[in-house]
Amino acid sequence: MAFRTENPATGIVEQEFTSATDADVTRAIERADTAFASWRKTPAADRAKALAGVAQAFQDRGDELARVISTEMGKPFAQAQGEVALSASIYQWYADHGEGLLEEETLDVGDDAKSVVVTEPIGVLMGVMPWNFPQYQVARFAAPNLMLGNTILLKHASICARTGELIEEILHAAGIPEDAYINLFVSTDQVTTIIEDPRVRGVSLTGSEGAGAAVATTAAQNLKKSVLELGGSDPLIVLDDVDVKETATTVATARMSNAGQACNSPKRILVPAGMFDEFVQTVVETVEGMPVGDPLAEDTEIGPLSSVQGRDDAVSQVERAVEQGATLHTGGRALDKDGAWMSPAVLTGVTREMDAFKEEIFGPVAVIYSYDSVDEAVEIANDSDFGLSGSVWSKDEAKAEEVARRLEVGMAYVNEHATTKAGLPFGGVRRSGYGRELGRWGFTEFANTKLVRVA
Ligand code: NAP
Repeated sequence: MAFRTENPATGIVEQEFTSATDADVTRAIERADTAFASWRKTPAADRAKALAGVAQAFQDRGDELARVISTEMGKPFAQAQGEVALSASIYQWYADHGEGLLEEETLDVGDDAKSVVVTEPIGVLMGVMPWNFPQYQVARFAAPNLMLGNTILLKHASICARTGELIEEILHAAGIPEDAYINLFVSTDQVTTIIEDPRVRGVSLTGSEGAGAAVATTAAQNLKKSVLELGGSDPLIVLDDVDVKETATTVATARMSNAGQACNSPKRILVPAGMFDEFVQTVVETVEGMPVGDPLAEDTEIGPLSSVQGRDDAVSQVERAVEQGATLHTGGRALDKDGAWMSPAVLTGVTREMDAFKEEIFGPVAVIYSYDSVDEAVEIANDSDFGLSGSVWSKDEAKAEEVARRLEVGMAYVNEHATTKAGLPFGGVRRSGYGRELGRWGFTEFANTKLVRVA
């Protein structure tokens, strides 16, 4: 796809970007490979200092970065500010903890030899990133790997080109060498060429299953490691002791955050039959009360979707659910104005045979299911091709934790959904991908955990 900013709130193309030529790609790989030789030898304290500078720049330029996010993909400004702050915290976390994570570990394996494990970088990495959290997703790949000493070629989503440029500018200004982090406006074919190049040692992709499979196939054919952060259809189980109105309001707000375009949004909300009607009614009222509008306006809670195509896909998923027998309580229609607008929707009556149960709905659509027993709720929750995260809500934390531990996901929560922090691992199982980002787990995905043994 061509790299350009088409403001989804207006439909106006605001900026176009020049794509890289094949010669640019060849040169970028050479540059990143040459930079690796010196960046890996740069003292860890200096790499940490550069990352701390990045974190500071994110704080200083927070509103500017947030405004670009809102303009490129439609996220309400306050939510975009939150994303930038989270990104800053990730750069800072690796600045603070990176040197500790690089400390050698001496092993006692019951003999007289010296056994030491050292953590080393592996070389040039390719990053392929999506548009829905365009700063945060790059941060969780770039920060640990730059701290480790790897160098990076980065292909951002074609609709987030300006964000891609800004990240590169900020990293360089903070002291990351120009060739250690290179933003590239490349096609998917050029991504393949890059992964195939022997100097490139691994690839990390956050995005859809199709893109993940394509990138992982090329990586596997070339015997390279990949990390995939893909889609999700997260279950959220409400137990029968909650305050119905309070929980339903919180859950509705969570589902509509970022116009529902989050991999770990609660896409399947499971509610006890006894409170189902009141819960649904509260979600409908909450959703109908959420201001839909200009992402840069202060009171906006739901902006446009990221693109007309994304909006059309979500609307057609709602229409198909209704055709297959689901009940639409509100919204679910394209708004009659320029841009990628859709009214937020609430669906019930989705059965396991319907597409809406099996597919990821990447838009402002709350789907609420009724269950009769906790065992049934867990069984429905785990009946998914995905396994990113899930949550359980109850006043009884011990009971909720016991249920949360039964979820077949990469991240299980009680009384919150999808909380992300720099020090917590992030990632899924099943078709939600493999590998982990953030914290110490994200530090070693592209590391050589090397044994040095002296007999
Ligand atoms: P996408 O279409 O897969 O795009 C993601 C990135 O992959 C973009 O840079 C895209 O480039 C690129 N791409 C697409 N096809 C490719 C191919 N065949 N080879 C190489 N690169 C390719 O996904 P999206 O629509 O932007 O993002 C939504 C999806 O990402 C959802 O499924 C969501 O759940 C998932 N996601 C997962 C996580 C997680 O952490 N698990 C986080 C956020 C989003 P272009 O932009 O140029 O097409």
